[in-house]
Amino acid sequence: MRILRSSLNISTRSRFEVIDITSMIENWLRESNVGNGLLLVYTPHTTAALAINEYESGLRQDILEMLKSLTKPDAHWRHNLIDNNAHAHLANVIVGGDKIVPVENGKLTLGTWQRLLFIELDGPRRREVRLVYVGE
Ligand code: ZN
Repeated sequence: MRILRSSLNISTRSRFEVIDITSMIENWLRESNVGNGLLLVYTPHTTAALAINEYESGLRQDILEMLKSLTKPDAHWRHNLIDNNAHAHLANVIVGGDKIVPVENGKLTLGTWQRLLFIELDGPRRREVRLVYVGE
């Protein structure tokens, strides 16, 4: 059994942004010549999130609008007294920051419209996504 690790560096450009990181992950799997296993995709940030969904321009805006409506960036959250980004922490709690995807014959077993999406909630910033592959 092999355990491989890597990380992706992402520079986000807006306060709120959805970025498709699927190709970057697929490239790493191809270069690593993996077989069958599991891939953990994890972001070590409290103000960003990871989702698996469709990367369609309208839906990308809908996701961000939905998260803003739930977490109300302009509300008087207690955390905003020390760091003006409570909404981003709350959206991370809702969405989460990790995904596990089965890998078969070196490829992510995603559905037709599924993509791995990095969701920036308090950018622009330099961000990291960690990858851990366990398998053949
Ligand atoms: Zn904060």
